[in-house]
Amino acid sequence: MSQPIVPMLIGSEWMEVEVEEYGSVHNPSTGEVIARTPLGRAQQVDQAVQAGQRAFAHWSRVPAPDRARVMFAYRELLEAQFDDIARLICRENGKTLDEAKGDVRRGLEVVEFACGIAHLAKGEHLPQLADGIDGTTMREPIGVCAGITPFNFPAMVPMWMYPIAIACGNAFILKPSEKVPLTANKLGELFLQAGLPEGVFNIVHGGREVVDALCTHAGIAAVSFVGSSPVAKHVYEVGTSHGKRVQAAGGAKNILLVMPDAEPDATVRAVMGAAFGCAGQRCMAGSLLVGIGEAADPLRQRMVAAMDQLRVEDTLDNPQAEMGPVIDAAAQQRIRTTIGAAAAQGVAVARDGREGVPEQGFFVGPTLLDQVEPHHQVFDQEVFGPVLSMLHPPDLSAAIEWCNSLPFGNGASIFTTNGAAAREFAQGIQCGMVGINLGVPAPMAQFSFSGWNGSFYGDLHVQGMEGVYFYTRQKTVLTRWGSNYGSVQGWWA
Ligand code: NAD
Repeated sequence: MSQPIVPMLIGSEWMEVEVEEYGSVHNPSTGEVIARTPLGRAQQVDQAVQAGQRAFAHWSRVPAPDRARVMFAYRELLEAQFDDIARLICRENGKTLDEAKGDVRRGLEVVEFACGIAHLAKGEHLPQLADGIDGTTMREPIGVCAGITPFNFPAMVPMWMYPIAIACGNAFILKPSEKVPLTANKLGELFLQAGLPEGVFNIVHGGREVVDALCTHAGIAAVSFVGSSPVAKHVYEVGTSHGKRVQAAGGAKNILLVMPDAEPDATVRAVMGAAFGCAGQRCMAGSLLVGIGEAADPLRQRMVAAMDQLRVEDTLDNPQAEMGPVIDAAAQQRIRTTIGAAAAQGVAVARDGREGVPEQGFFVGPTLLDQVEPHHQVFDQEVFGPVLSMLHPPDLSAAIEWCNSLPFGNGASIFTTNGAAAREFAQGIQCGMVGINLGVPAPMAQFSFSGWNGSFYGDLHVQGMEGVYFYTRQKTVLTRWGSNYGSVQGWWA
């Protein structure tokens, strides 16, 4: 085969590693294979851990403002190459250009957040905690950290993790999705150009074997994972049973609830963006459209009209495209099968995305399933494609009850002009990210991405201050200077 083999970054060297198996990187808009990802082995993980450990010994002692200077330089390079990175994302993931730019921008904001590390990682101090004793806490880096990421945000999700981990003084090994390795390599290349010392950031490509090696290697202190819930649970269980701290974000079934008093045009725009942005392949993709009372019928009609207008096209060099393909042929088939299975279970297909899409590439058109109820399989199944299911519960409290029976807990939004309804929803709904008149309530860099229930395994979430806490551990120092040793009573005397 003539497609290029994606190199790994171990130490500061880009290596073409010979392996037995390769994954295929596609341009999802055409179906063409554009590169091959080597599916690495435990051996490459071990090499990367050793490179990381050598780097950690030095990097963890570099003053925080100097680490921040590297992050500032990285930020400038990312900004200078912003459009090229976005285009690469269109090419290997199939996002529209605007979505790809959003992917880079949200990641870049985490780099900007990490530029403040000298302030963010400061500890606390209390003089005269006891007589003659001062108390100080400090946050120290933890060692070599690993990040395992999904295909759907090739730039943003890796950047939820490694900029904060590295700014905190750790070394990092990234295992990107084997479906989108090119963006990750570009991000690594720019980090080296920014002056990051050898071995602080490593990229090992692969699949399950690399993941399991990262979760079990004694030289790794922490594992961050983002992907589907079954793998998140697996990574959490294996990683923690091997003594690592783990944060593992999983799948979702996100809710878009529309009250009869919602502003109609703005609501349809927000619902369209939430459900069909990134072809429904977001962990915050709106998946259940809950129409309350007389909101439901006009909402369905407006949605179908808007879906008919959506331009579903090849996204590369085509800024007109409003929705792109899904990631690969397997995803396309899975989504088509899910629509068929829902129809077979008695769900009404108000708009069928299996038809009217480009033949080449991995396209599924926007789909609306109607009259979905909690006993239908599609109710609590993560479709991860452009399929929106409409529900008609009798009222708001029944809607909240239905939604709280879902096994996930990422995002839920309400559209209303009634503050009391918004308050009831925000307080009653069992999930970690709530939107009020907002389709995608995904927090930005300054806040942590706070999934609940089956959408998250662990304690400290990715990015924001919880990210800083996750990648550091606290040391408490009690100090007494002076000649009064033993002058007070207590265990410290
Ligand atoms: P995935 O779980 O298939 O893959 C994620 C990572 O795990 C990849 O790096 C992959 O190589 C690895 N992996 C896959 N199967 C594995 C296995 N059996 N054992 C060990 N490792 C394995 O997810 P995906 O299809 O790449 O991404 C889509 C999923 O990610 C969706 O479920 C989506 O909701 C979720 N996601 C969640 C968030 C969040 O913040 N909660 C964000 C983005 C995506």
